[in-house]
Amino acid sequence: MKDFDIKVELTKDKKEKPAFDQLSFGTNFTDHMFVMDYTKGQGWHDPRIIPYQPITLDPAAIVFHYGQTVFEGLKAYRTKDEEILLFRPDQNMKRLNRSNERLCIPVFDEELALAGLKKLISIDKDWVPNVEGTSLYIRPFIFATEPYLGVAASDTYRFLIILSPVGAYYKEGINPVKIAVEQEYVRAVTGGTGNAKTAGNYAGSLKAQVVADAAGYSQVLWLDGKEKKYIEEVGSMNVFFKINGEVITPVLNGSILEGITRKSVIELLNHWDIPVVERKISIDEIFRAYQEGVLEEAFGTGTAAVISPIGELFWQGEKLVINNGETGAISKKVYDSLTGIQTGTKEDPFGWRVKVE
Ligand code: PMP
Repeated sequence: MKDFDIKVELTKDKKEKPAFDQLSFGTNFTDHMFVMDYTKGQGWHDPRIIPYQPITLDPAAIVFHYGQTVFEGLKAYRTKDEEILLFRPDQNMKRLNRSNERLCIPVFDEELALAGLKKLISIDKDWVPNVEGTSLYIRPFIFATEPYLGVAASDTYRFLIILSPVGAYYKEGINPVKIAVEQEYVRAVTGGTGNAKTAGNYAGSLKAQVVADAAGYSQVLWLDGKEKKYIEEVGSMNVFFKINGEVITPVLNGSILEGITRKSVIELLNHWDIPVVERKISIDEIFRAYQEGVLEEAFGTGTAAVISPIGELFWQGEKLVINNGETGAISKKVYDSLTGIQTGTKEDPFGWRVKVE
């Protein structure tokens, strides 16, 4: 790897760490953060690590008004041997640049950002929790800083990486969830920004989530924005089904976010000689499979939960109970294998792990 000039200013005031056996999600932040600026004509410049602190922006900054911003989410894990491992971080940097292209944000050097991330984690390594199931959640993000009220791409940007120790997603083992099929709102449309990780997609998804939550469902199953017929994603996860022995996931169509867990699940299943069919799949087809008794498993995939089995789908007044509301065999096997690779308890035949020195 190239030797990048990343300046470091260490904090003089280290924070008290939270108890690692009582961590929640995204509420505690480490002592330092990575920062880099973009100025038109100059490109990305001044990569640096500085004490974690608030940022000051002009109230007219484009990000506040028109949402020109992108982000990523990945995790670092502490192994039993006190090593710190990242899971496919190159894929997150690639996706961040793909999101940049969609939002007219200038692309950055992925190797530099990865070097900055590793250096940041190495400085804050005592914040990588050591309790089973915990991890260090990593949030890279980029936003438009130019003060301008015209609707236009900014001439200046800031790139930050912040770190947050997080608790186990499943405190009592992997657990199936109840999902409501969303029939009113949509997450994304063809030609929109669904395949970019940008704030507006998430702001627009809150309403459906609030309604589902009030009805006792933990997430919604998103249908396509045109016909509300084809399945896209579940909450902020990709989705897989096992129907009559065949594993199926919606094909990437421009409005689905290309999950790194999704990609890894497909590669893992293929490695076990279990083919995964990527194609359009309608909610009617799921309902038919359910009626015929061949809807064997359903699960979401994403960085936060890794695998989230679906125990029940609510659709047009029907409750489709899947696998008796229990975790299916494929869901469990994929979950154990992926978390084993991520945390260093299993072999990594794919070379997905990246060590932080
Ligand atoms: N879809 C959406 C909308 C998401 O926000 C995420 C989380 N990044 C995913 C899918 C899953 O992606 P990944 O497996 O890379 O976490």
